[in-house]
Amino acid sequence: MAGELLEAIMNATFQEAIPKKQVVPSTMRALVFRGPNQIGIEQAPIPRPGPGEAVIRVTLTTICGTDLHILKGEYPVKSGLVIGHEPVGLIHELGVGLTGYVVGERVLVGAITPCGQCNYCLSGEWSQCGGPIGGWKFGNTINGAQAEYLLVPNAQANLAKIPDDLSDEQAVLLADTASTGISAAESGEVKIGDAVAVFAQGPIGLCATAGAKLKGAGFIIAVESDPVRSEMARRMGADVVVDHTRMDAVEEIRRLTQGKVVDVAIEALGTQGTFESALRALRAGGTLSSLGVYSGKLSVPLEPFAAGLGDHKIVTTLCPGGKERMRRLMELVRHGRLDLRPLLTHTFSLDRIVEAYELFGQRRDGVIKVAIRP
Ligand SMILES: [Zn+2]
Ligand SMILES: [Zn+2]
Repeated sequence: MAGELLEAIMNATFQEAIPKKQVVPSTMRALVFRGPNQIGIEQAPIPRPGPGEAVIRVTLTTICGTDLHILKGEYPVKSGLVIGHEPVGLIHELGVGLTGYVVGERVLVGAITPCGQCNYCLSGEWSQCGGPIGGWKFGNTINGAQAEYLLVPNAQANLAKIPDDLSDEQAVLLADTASTGISAAESGEVKIGDAVAVFAQGPIGLCATAGAKLKGAGFIIAVESDPVRSEMARRMGADVVVDHTRMDAVEEIRRLTQGKVVDVAIEALGTQGTFESALRALRAGGTLSSLGVYSGKLSVPLEPFAAGLGDHKIVTTLCPGGKERMRRLMELVRHGRLDLRPLLTHTFSLDRIVEAYELFGQRRDGVIKVAIRP
């Protein structure tokens, strides 16, 4: 009798402890890099968070120009890595040690995930967390965002809650494209009334144009030949778009500024030619704010650099990250100062992401950014 009772109690307890529910899947679909020009959707284990980490279920992501460099083998990452670094999602699981978050909350996570504790972070160099380019972890040194689930390291410093009045589409480009682009105007210390030239109007350059406007530039000249991007540049705040394939861009900038050239020149492509043009379009004492990722060798022409005596400043910025950066960017969107939805020209499901890479890589159909829905 006592045995039966005990058994009944145990059964009851057992059933209570494990409620009947759907079997939780343990694997997910993810875009895996296997070598140059070899990417594909594979099944991968859903990550589990360790102390201080979180796992989010990705609801929207995108493809970055940097991912194209990875795909071509121009930026080396290890085989088997899930790539992508621009996530919006719902908190799926929280590791121990996190406070102020609950499962199910919608969050934006920056492409750069600083630890907030190392000597670089505590010196304010968040993007260089732990060492050169060390803040960039997703799809670089750890698995990235082009997947159904994503492990977020140092989650307390990196999960930025998305206000209810912002959609996923309004938030996703803040993770990298806008944070990087706008940072060019911030690092260049654009002052109200400045003349600013932005060389190249890809997604990052377009956001640099928006950044120059946000910082109060008086006159913004975009340099771009593609008609779709030129039109978008005007929408983002450019007063004039100079087509460098039809005229000498530097001469035209000189003419447009009555010979004064610009106070801040932003380079958003990463070639010797655009770097040089940016320097030639810059006044003495001005700032060349460089966003491009250069390959091979970059040399400085001495004449526009006044042989080193022109008080020119050359600054570079890797995408600023961390939850406070994301919060500030979301404030710009919430209050109508920045709308990046027009840049999301195409949408694909995660299953069709390889097609999206082709479209984005070949710049077909007027594509600017692709939204990927896992
Ligand atoms: Zn990127
Ligand atoms: Zn750090």
